[in-house]
Amino acid sequence: MTLKISHTSDIQIFFNKVAGFDRAEGNPRFKEIILRVLQDTARLVEDLEITEDEFWHAVDYLNRLGGRNEAGLLAAGLGIEHFLDLLQDAKDAEAGLSGGTPRTIEGPLYVAGSPLAQGEARMDDGTDAGVVMFLQGRVSDSEGNPLVGATVDIWHANTQGTYSYFDSTQSEYNLRRRIITDTNGRYRARSIVPSGYGCDPQGPTQECLDLLGRHGQRPAHVHFFISAPGHRHLTTQINFAGDQYLWDDFAFATRDGLIGDLRFVEDAAAARDRGVQADRFAELAFDFYLQKAAAPEAEAPSHRPRA
Ligand code: FE
Repeated sequence: MTLKISHTSDIQIFFNKVAGFDRAEGNPRFKEIILRVLQDTARLVEDLEITEDEFWHAVDYLNRLGGRNEAGLLAAGLGIEHFLDLLQDAKDAEAGLSGGTPRTIEGPLYVAGSPLAQGEARMDDGTDAGVVMFLQGRVSDSEGNPLVGATVDIWHANTQGTYSYFDSTQSEYNLRRRIITDTNGRYRARSIVPSGYGCDPQGPTQECLDLLGRHGQRPAHVHFFISAPGHRHLTTQINFAGDQYLWDDFAFATRDGLIGDLRFVEDAAAARDRGVQADRFAELAFDFYLQKAAAPEAEAPSHRPRA
């Protein structure tokens, strides 16, 4: 039988001291969380008989994870970010909050302050030879009334599956725009069809996924923050029907109600009419519905630290 000591009063007194409970200084909420981390870590070490080698490999892993800025990516890959969505959904159900477009994970690659446009915007800088994508839709309240002046903050990857700011080869704010909906609640964007994102094969997140026997790929997707006065902030993404990884996303972000129909138009004349220098382009229409905000705080995104 495995020897266990974490439940003893000596160890509990010790962990309380470590977490600062014998001092007036510090933050009570933080103390409570750290005490729980200590207690749960001790139980994990005992229950799974974690060896010293395993423990110190884990410490080294955390150093490397932080060094590569991949902690947010790992949180997505281990499904914790999706779990937070499921928990919020359950809280909403309990509170009787329903309706509107489903939420899904933000991911770690948002950058604040992208260029702001009225009604429509071109999102790409013209250097990526990807297929032109016309993206448009309407933002409404949950009863279907159009929301004029809503902010549609869009970001997505290029044809290599990488994001501007995090990929220094792209121009500033490439494929990132904020569009204010017009008098009919509509937004329009010209961009390029994104490719799916893949974890760095040499990075610590993929190292973890390899040990779990999992891949680190995402389907192609477009991220959105949608906000309007008096309405609940929405963080979501849309995926494209037919994508190889649609229901096999390493970050578990795909949800019913968030799958868009990306339509390829093979028509050179129609392309020319729309100012596209190619024989084909793609179209995607997607409408969003926002719940009413129960409180002013609900109108803003979380205070997650962002670029
Ligand atoms: Fe993404």
